[in-house]
Amino acid sequence: MYLGRMTSQHPAITATTHLDALAAALGFALPQGGVEVFSPVDGARVAGFDPVDAAAVGAIADRAAKAFHHWRTVPGPRRGELVRRLGEELRRHKADLGMLVTLDCGKPLSEGLGEVQEMIDICDFAVGLSRQLHGLTIASERPGHRMSETWHPLGPVAIITAFNFPVAVWAWNAALALVCGDSVVWKPSEKTPLTAIAVQALFDRVVADFGPDAPEGLAQLVLGDAPTGAALVDHPEIALVSATGSTAMGRIVGQAAARRFARSLLELGGNNATVVAPSADMELALTGCAFGFMGTTGQRCTSLRRLFVERGTYDSFVPRIISAAARLPIGDPRDPANLAGPLIDEASFGAMQAALADARALGATVHGGERIDGSGAGVYVRPAVVEMPTQTGPMLRETFAPILYCLRYDTLDEAIALNNAAAQGLSSSIFTNDLREAEAFVAASGSDCGIANINIGTSGAEIGGAFGGEKETGGGRESGSDSWKAYMRRQTSTVNYSAALPLAQGVTFEL
Ligand code: NAD
Repeated sequence: MYLGRMTSQHPAITATTHLDALAAALGFALPQGGVEVFSPVDGARVAGFDPVDAAAVGAIADRAAKAFHHWRTVPGPRRGELVRRLGEELRRHKADLGMLVTLDCGKPLSEGLGEVQEMIDICDFAVGLSRQLHGLTIASERPGHRMSETWHPLGPVAIITAFNFPVAVWAWNAALALVCGDSVVWKPSEKTPLTAIAVQALFDRVVADFGPDAPEGLAQLVLGDAPTGAALVDHPEIALVSATGSTAMGRIVGQAAARRFARSLLELGGNNATVVAPSADMELALTGCAFGFMGTTGQRCTSLRRLFVERGTYDSFVPRIISAAARLPIGDPRDPANLAGPLIDEASFGAMQAALADARALGATVHGGERIDGSGAGVYVRPAVVEMPTQTGPMLRETFAPILYCLRYDTLDEAIALNNAAAQGLSSSIFTNDLREAEAFVAASGSDCGIANINIGTSGAEIGGAFGGEKETGGGRESGSDSWKAYMRRQTSTVNYSAALPLAQGVTFEL
């Protein structure tokens, strides 16, 4: 168990001192504009940007359409070569970009570096994919006919991303979209624009070296908040809107895209659960649950938020979770001794305190959850473990903060029903050494989530699998497996090489 270290002190956190040097190393200038950008590490203002207005978004989308018309004719493996070079550039700049991720969104440096590694991994995956955009041949019912299915590039893709994975989610989308022959326009979170500017600068350098196959406008960046994103979603040239963020955002964006019959790929909120069964390896379960709910300060879409522990196991297991939360080293995310950094902002802290107050009003017992002093204007909190009387109130909402709601269960059927009672359907897991329980959890009548794990936690997905969730999580799938198909259009072709024209289903039409 890795949680035994003492809480480190963080008397003089100064994110700003690093930023100028990082920006220079990564080849971009810190923007200065009207919308202020703060580092969650110390709450200091580090830059400012001017949001892109609707007219400028229109010009950018038109440029993306022009780029698409050229890029779709470039052979897939050549498109893969561009993404291979992007991966190489990311490898070269992993240390600096990982640190910038940490300063921009406040996650511990090992996670900032991990996020860049995820970008590299998806580039590698996409390079292989660029030679495997396979279609099908299909048996025709008519003599002298051949049927086939071909995947073609789709069009410009809008990528809207959340603050908590400020660069990896762009890479999940962009690496696949680019090998699939699409152009991309990225609207990052207004809370984390610096990493987006850095990645765009890096991409631009790769394109400049690539030669004329890569057109101007192949991957573009638009900075702004909801109105900028909405202008992109409404633009008729955008063929696919891939949006990652809250369910509230997805409800608006999904409907706006549907109004003009554009495709959408929605990766929205989660309210993820773990079941701890009596046969579980308790050390494994403890570490899995601890990282699940406290890792990334509870600010992952897959963070563990609900814990169901078998009644006879609860009293030995839950106190260990409470103790782990009380001992978690929290502080400056650049210090490797700290396993959790700050919340993104004061609003997050307010939402966390409101959820805890709601839980108390329902009779819950709350352990932790208080602000940690001594960290300047950064918002550092002790994770909260909340023992609930029933699954109700805030336990059925996603609060983007380190709160773990705990409840006892008696039977596995009850635990599965509790797991499935959330409006969202992103991630779930069970810790058990009972084969029957494990299989039941991942069966058709088991967890209803897009991710169902056995003996690991809810968070920390690899890029090889399709990532996404059901119900209010939006239904989209990104990253591995056959997620690439979302970025292409499918064409079915029937070729008649006979001298007759028989109709399907035996229909006759004699003139
Ligand atoms: P958010 O919904 O506030 O913002 C996400 C993005 O959407 C931002 O870029 C924002 O500017 C944009 N946006 C907001 N309203 C818009 C509109 N009307 N039109 C177009 N764009 C709009 O989310 P956040 O606070 O940045 O991130 C946290 C949320 O994201 C959580 O709910 C979390 O679960 C979710 N999330 C989901 C996944 C996933 O893969 N399922 C991954 C990361 C985060």
